[in-house]
Amino acid sequence: MLDLKLEYEYMKKDIDAAITQCLKHQHWILGPEVKELENKIAGYLGVKHCVGTSSGTDALVLSLRALAIKLKGQEYFDKPDEIITTPFTFTATGDAILRSGATPVFADIDPATFNIDPAKIKEYLERRASSVERRVVGIIPVHLYGQACQMDLIMDTAKEHDLFVLEDVAQAFGSLWKNKKLGSIGTAGAFSFFPSKNLGGFGDGGMIASNDDEIADLTRMLLKHGGKDKYNVDHIGYNARLDTLQAAILLAKFKYIDEFNERRRRIAQTYTKELSGLEGLVLPITHDPSPITGVYHVCHQYTIRVLNGKRDALQQHLKENGISTMVYYPVPLHQMKVFKERMRMPESLGQAEKAAKEVMSLPIEPLLKNAQIKTITIAIRRFPA
Ligand SMILES: *Cc1c(COP(=O)(O)O)cnc(C)c1O
Repeated sequence: MLDLKLEYEYMKKDIDAAITQCLKHQHWILGPEVKELENKIAGYLGVKHCVGTSSGTDALVLSLRALAIKLKGQEYFDKPDEIITTPFTFTATGDAILRSGATPVFADIDPATFNIDPAKIKEYLERRASSVERRVVGIIPVHLYGQACQMDLIMDTAKEHDLFVLEDVAQAFGSLWKNKKLGSIGTAGAFSFFPSKNLGGFGDGGMIASNDDEIADLTRMLLKHGGKDKYNVDHIGYNARLDTLQAAILLAKFKYIDEFNERRRRIAQTYTKELSGLEGLVLPITHDPSPITGVYHVCHQYTIRVLNGKRDALQQHLKENGISTMVYYPVPLHQMKVFKERMRMPESLGQAEKAAKEVMSLPIEPLLKNAQIKTITIAIRRFPA
């Protein structure tokens, strides 16, 4: 799906220089590159604070823990505290909710975008309004495949019901919603620098973005054992810092992020041009038809739907032609053992289940050559519909 060696060769001079710099200064824990990256990304996103973490998952967990401390004055949420999210995401989104002590509530997705359907959030909140023993505390919208959720509707609903919004921006570094960078709109945003993400390190890494001073302060404490002074701590903490070495590599790669996002978009555009009109395929919406909406999709994935139960056969056909594809995600969260006994599912999640059976993501390596894209689209076209 990605050719990380090719990307390294492309950026080798910058990356090697960044690593050499670390070898010289030897400040491995919270070294100067961590602060520099936090400041750079805060500027890029237009937020007050960025806090580096050891992974995207930790960025989610730390944000939720900080929210529990801020909103409830206690270390964790309680089981009756509910957080609404999508079942069609990477397991870490739901896992973070469980680890924060709260209960995940899954709301179905909009089949056109694969993102959480804001109408389903509203419906659940209106139905729940009369409950005294349970309370929704927040929403985690996931900008899946790089595509923005309907943030206006989600923020309006959150305001109306006094909920926090934690954006899962793991797949959407650089995407825009109404000219605002994703991750800068909610109460906080959680990014991942996992190697396959749009801005990926050479190992694990993540970042929390927020305009809230208290969330920034608390997450900074939590990532280094739970206190400002690590020998005299206030909270139940973690060792969840972003590595200096990863920060240095990410700073080098950050120079290329806009160029690489553009490259992804161009590949997506080519796929759409070459595959449109094919029977039995539904292509993703990657380019906003109206430029005034200020939506920019960084095309983390180019994910098609293969109808009539033919997804696995098409995937096999492509594999035989030397083309690797991925299914993100084959099992929605509500069907996993870990969530089954610990979640709420207000109604059937038919759209998420259908998507899990139909989706297939095509290779979207930013340095893919036109001839390679052509090979892929020709192989798809040769598959009997
Ligand atoms: C990758 C990802 C995460 C977790 O990030 P890690 O850095 O791998 O811990 C969370 N949510 C989504 C949607 C992701 O794609």
